Amino acid sequence: MSSDNENEWFKKHEILLISTAKREREKRLQQEKAKSEAQEAARLRELHWMHCPKCGHKLEEIGEQGIKIDRCNHCHGVYLDAGELEEILVAQDQKRKSVFRSLARMVTGGKLTD
Ligand SMILES: [Zn+2]
Repeated sequence: MSSDNENEWFKKHEILLISTAKREREKRLQQEKAKSEAQEAARLRELHWMHCPKCGHKLEEIGEQGIKIDRCNHCHGVYLDAGELEEILVAQDQKRKSVFRSLARMVTGGKLTD
């Protein structure tokens, strides 16, 4: 191998080594980022799960006949899970009325009639 060919071989080889190392580094950084995002999501979930988004106190699940709502035991805010409002809104008229009556009973503790 001539000196020129040798230099050319090393040059190509070096470029390949550098690009492989760069790809490996990017892959490792992406994995570390995904891991830290998952850890942060778990930390936030543990910190906020079943806590009022307004005042931070505990939420309690109350409900009847398939309707479950979360109510804050401090500020009495009422929260629905994802999809529950849509379910109520698309329910048949009769079912929707009964859902709203149930909600009214739950929220007022039965003080409202009709
Ligand atoms: Zn609250």
